[in-house]
Amino acid sequence: MALTQLQIKEILDENKDHECEGYGPDHICVRIASIADLPSRFGQFQVVAFWNNRDKKEHAAFVHGDITGAENVPVRVHSECLTGDAIGSLRCDCRDQLETSLQIIGQKENGILLYMRQEGRGIGFINKIRAYGLQDHGYDTVEANLALGFRDDEREYSSAAHMLDSLKVGSIQLMTNNPKKINELKAYGIKINGRLPLIIPPNKYNEFYLKTKARKSGHLMTFGSETRMMEQNDRPIIDGMTDEKIDAIQQEEEQHDG
Ligand SMILES: [Zn+2]
Ligand SMILES: [Zn+2]
Repeated sequence: MALTQLQIKEILDENKDHECEGYGPDHICVRIASIADLPSRFGQFQVVAFWNNRDKKEHAAFVHGDITGAENVPVRVHSECLTGDAIGSLRCDCRDQLETSLQIIGQKENGILLYMRQEGRGIGFINKIRAYGLQDHGYDTVEANLALGFRDDEREYSSAAHMLDSLKVGSIQLMTNNPKKINELKAYGIKINGRLPLIIPPNKYNEFYLKTKARKSGHLMTFGSETRMMEQNDRPIIDGMTDEKIDAIQQEEEQHDG
């Protein structure tokens, strides 16, 4: 069961004047501004639009099933990528990660995809395209990486934690390939009962992950002459990868973050 009209009205009334001391060092506070049904190709969802006190980024939650007070709700935190999510760019694998998350959530009893409007690791669309442009003009990946910047994880997880609280989720299972991410949400008081690995089905666009020995340099991965930006905050696991490969990915994530 999704949220009823009565529940929606109650949530919106509660949120209208919501104010708290905020999450994280930046005291991020969010309010649910509006909720609507959103049938999608991945199943029945409701879309929740959030206002926040820090910037004009209007984050969204895509909610499937009944999550109010629910335990072990699968949650994916996805960062906006216009070029990948909407257009299907192959410079990154954001769309694979997004679609796989929504497919998994849509097939489960309930689940939430938090869609964070933080294009290009939070540096914005223009800077992300500048980084792409630098690469097109032969700049090395390090310079392009600097232009792309690193994700402000703290901001993402403080907003995400408040959003989950606003949605009144009891506890979650985080869909991530990076075990370390769990601690970041936990630090904001979110009850996390487990981790669900995000395993992406192989297709003609991602099979290079299987065929090529991916080398990672910072947040960049180079495949022969092809360079792709890591725009989501954990590395993809493609169905068919060996256990050793998966272990190596997770270890690299932990080392990189640590
Ligand atoms: Zn608040
Ligand atoms: Zn992307």
